[in-house]
Amino acid sequence: MYKVRRWVVRHSRLFESLYFHFEPLLVRLHPLWRRLGYARVEAPMRVVEKGVKGLLFDCQMCGKCVLSSTGMSCPMNCPKTLRNGPCGGVRSNGHCEVKPEMRCVWVEAWTGSRNMREGERIHVVQQPVDYRLKGTSSWLSVVRQQVHEDNGGDQ
Ligand code: SF4
Repeated sequence: MYKVRRWVVRHSRLFESLYFHFEPLLVRLHPLWRRLGYARVEAPMRVVEKGVKGLLFDCQMCGKCVLSSTGMSCPMNCPKTLRNGPCGGVRSNGHCEVKPEMRCVWVEAWTGSRNMREGERIHVVQQPVDYRLKGTSSWLSVVRQQVHEDNGGDQ
């Protein structure tokens, strides 16, 4: 999957555009998710998300996706799982100090962000990982959050 995720970073603008259309679609389907029950939808959604994002991004299902702020390079593939990087150990060739065969995910993130319309989001400091969310669908989480905001607090 390493080659695939590097390819995705090189085409980060395409994936940014795809997500730009995908997220509103997910949010528009909120009535359906609600009718089915979010708790019931969670498991199948998690399977789909893990399959698609695992293939494309080596997604680790952290539950709170930040790909659109990290050049489509998943920060959870950093051996130190740094949500804000890089650390001081990046080699002069841009590779990781822990896994020297791998390019630093934050070097990749910077590269990917340069191709994106909203690439400046890489400068936003990310919150620490909330491990209570691990294994949950970040897609459904985005829908819930968006609906919550749109309704001024009610789902
Ligand atoms: S940031 Fe989290 S949800 Fe997004 S690709 Fe990485 S592990 Fe998966």
